Amino acid sequence: MLTATLSTLLGQPDASAFLLGVVSRGRYANAYLFHGPHGVGKGTAALAFARAALCERVPGAAARDEGPSLFGEASDAGPAATGNDACGECRGCRMSATLQHPDLRFLFPVSGEERTLDATIEETLEALRSDPLFVFQYERAASIRISQTRELIGELGYRPHTASRRVVVVRDCDRMREDQYSALLKSIEEPGASTLWVLTTARAARVPATIRSRCQHVRFAPLSESLVREVLQSQADVEEKEARMLAALASGSLARALSMRDADPDMKAQRDAALALLAPALEGQPAELWGAIQKLTAYGRAGRERLRLAIEFMQLWLRDALRLRFGAEPEQLVNRDRLKDLRELAARIDAHEIRRRVMVLEEALRSIDANVSPDLTLFSTLARVGGGRLGEGAWPAHPTARWQA
Ligand SMILES: [Zn+2]
Repeated sequence: MLTATLSTLLGQPDASAFLLGVVSRGRYANAYLFHGPHGVGKGTAALAFARAALCERVPGAAARDEGPSLFGEASDAGPAATGNDACGECRGCRMSATLQHPDLRFLFPVSGEERTLDATIEETLEALRSDPLFVFQYERAASIRISQTRELIGELGYRPHTASRRVVVVRDCDRMREDQYSALLKSIEEPGASTLWVLTTARAARVPATIRSRCQHVRFAPLSESLVREVLQSQADVEEKEARMLAALASGSLARALSMRDADPDMKAQRDAALALLAPALEGQPAELWGAIQKLTAYGRAGRERLRLAIEFMQLWLRDALRLRFGAEPEQLVNRDRLKDLRELAARIDAHEIRRRVMVLEEALRSIDANVSPDLTLFSTLARVGGGRLGEGAWPAHPTARWQA
């Protein structure tokens, strides 16, 4: 398995420098909160930080030497530890690389029945060990379960097994229960505690303020579009053209790009379907537009995701047209394989109008989040994108035509 280290974190220079500094000084706060958008490397960084904190060759991390080692090996920590990152070679690093260090606890949200929980957790860990780009995906109700923390909470009062500290990494810590937060809080507040908590969240506002205020915060930024593209191409075998499109749609989240690829490997077909919807809107043909939309969104929950993607494709399309109007070269365009169509569009509408349409689409994305019916959202959106040609009187009758209210 490819084990990430603090020195090799992708696209997070500030967080990486800060954490390397903590490790090299060997002075740790009781708890850290890694926050920032979904899918930018917080979880990877949290495990890398944990491994560095458990490495036997970094300052302040000398393995405890009382009694024989649990594993029957002498500690191989060097006498003068000076590193600032996991060495990858010592006993601690070898165990933490596979998440099997007795002083490393890794908690993450799970869903499903209690009796299959152990298997679910083991499967997830196995997938994580074998795929460095593994994406955690949760059901809505997924949470850090009581059965996952019961044993840990019992252990908190005792000394770590082999290292000088115990490290508990809690992924998406906004999915915990009240009593779990209380146990966490008690441990964080204990002076001289031997437990280091590393919490991650993409929804910091949902973490209780009592916890937030007692953690050292480490901010993670969205990744650059070019970095996402590069990783997709070099590590996930995605072709250049598709990688460009996924990166443009991913809003700086590698996880989002990867899950879009997994959801539908044929991004180009989806894009073309989305763009095909723009035509009847622009030509002022409501009935045709309505029919096309219903085909696109007739898939229940998945329909909502498809719709979101369709709107994002339309935005990319308009952004390309805007770039063209400002003299961009074809290689700077996401949809450069459709250069002729883009040029036609760019010649027909001015920059102000393009921006207006991008904004209308932006509003539509917000309505989708607010659970407005997908087909209605898309119809009213495209009617507005199409401009005056789709007047109210011409809209198809629909029993739930709430947009007219
Ligand atoms: Zn090491």
